[in-house]
Amino acid sequence: MSFQNPVFIPGPTNMPEALRKAVDMSTLDHRSSLFGDILHPALEGVKQVLQSPSAEVFVFPSTGTGGWEVALSNTLSPGDKVLVGRNGMFSHRWIDMCNRHGLDVEVIETAWGDALPVDRYRAALAADTGHKIKAVLATHNETATGVRSDIAALRGAMDGENHPALLLVDGVSSIGSMDFRMSDWGVDIAVTGSQKGFMLPLGLAIVGFSPKAIAVVEQAKLPRTFFDIRDMRAGYAANGYPYTPPVGLLNGLKASTDMLLSEGLSNVFARHNRIASGVRAAVSAWGLDLCASSPDAYSDTVSAIYVPEGFDSTALVTHAADKYGVAFGIGMGDVAGKVFRIGHLGCMTDVMALSGIATAEMCMADMGINVPLGSGVAAAQDYYRNSVGSEIKVAA
Ligand SMILES: *Cc1c(COP(=O)(O)O)cnc(C)c1O
Repeated sequence: MSFQNPVFIPGPTNMPEALRKAVDMSTLDHRSSLFGDILHPALEGVKQVLQSPSAEVFVFPSTGTGGWEVALSNTLSPGDKVLVGRNGMFSHRWIDMCNRHGLDVEVIETAWGDALPVDRYRAALAADTGHKIKAVLATHNETATGVRSDIAALRGAMDGENHPALLLVDGVSSIGSMDFRMSDWGVDIAVTGSQKGFMLPLGLAIVGFSPKAIAVVEQAKLPRTFFDIRDMRAGYAANGYPYTPPVGLLNGLKASTDMLLSEGLSNVFARHNRIASGVRAAVSAWGLDLCASSPDAYSDTVSAIYVPEGFDSTALVTHAADKYGVAFGIGMGDVAGKVFRIGHLGCMTDVMALSGIATAEMCMADMGINVPLGSGVAAAQDYYRNSVGSEIKVAA
C-alpha cells in the first residue's frame, strides 16, 4: 500500500509513471551512438514545445536558476545594461543574479499580483535613445503570485521602439503547460527546467536560443565555463556533452516531449486552462481573492490565494502536510504568510484537482476559516462537468 497523494506545489510536479520509467535506466556508454539516439530527439522535442523551428536548444545538468545564468553569461558583458520587471519572488531572484554578475540593472518595480507593465517597459526603451539596454528580461509566469505577463505585447513594445535589445524570458513555470510561442513572440532566449511542465525530476536547465541570441555569444564577456553554450554545441555535434551527461533525465525529456506533443500542445494548454478555471471557480465560491489582480493576468499553472486577514497561510500549508499528507505551496517574499498556492500544472487532471480543492477546504475548516465544506468542490465540479476535456476522450 502506498499513501502517496498528488502534490499541488508548482514544481516539482507529479510524474507520470511512463516518465519515471523513462528516467530509470541502466547505465549506458554516453560516448556510444545510443546516446545520440536519446539526445537529438530530446532537443528536437523541446524545440517543438517552444514552438520555434529556428531555436537552438541547450540542456545542462542544472535547474531553472542555472538556465538564467546560461542566458545572461552567454550574451552579456560586465556593465551591460538590462531592463527587467520585478513582480514576485522569481523575477526578484533573476534580478539578484543580474546584480551579482555586475550588470547595470534597471528595475521596473511592479505590485506583486500585477502583470509586468508593458507600457513602462516601453517608456524605458523609448528613453534609451543610445541603445544602452542590451537585454530586456521578463518572467512569463510569476510562480510566487500566479501571474502571467504578456510577452507578445512586450515584444510589440520593443519593435514599436525599434529597440535592438535581446528579449530573455523565464518560462520555467509556463513552458509545456501554457501557450509559449518563442518564434512568434520574438523571444531570444527561453529558459525552463525539467521539473515543472516537463513532469520530470529536477536536474535539467533547458534553454532555447534564437539565431539573434546565438549571434552575440562570441562578443559576450561574462565568464562562463560549465555553462558555455559553445562547448555544449561542440559536444552535441559529436553526439555527446563536454562532460558526463545525465542520460536518464535526457531519456525522460525525450519521452516527455513525445507525451506533450502526442497529446497536442493546444490540448495541453486547454487542459491547463480548464483545470485552472475550476480552481478559480472554487476560490470564488470560497469568497477568497487570488493574488493575481485581474483575469488577463491569471496563471493557468498556479493559483496564489489570499487567506482572510488574521490567518497564517504558512500554517495552513504545514497543516495540510501534517494532517492530510498533501503539499500546497507557501507564500514567498512579500506575500509570505498571506497566500497559499495551489499548483495545477503538469501531470494533472480535473479529478486530481478536485482532491486538492477538497483538501484545501478541510484545512481551512480545521483552522476556523469560514469556508463551507464542499462549496469550492461543488463550484469546480460544476465547471468540469460542463467542459469535458479532449484528453479524456483520447484515453477512452
Ligand atoms: C521554479 C522556478 C524557477 C527556479 O527554478 P529552479 O529549477 O528551482 O532553479 C525560476 N523561475 C520560475 C518562474 C519558477 O517557477
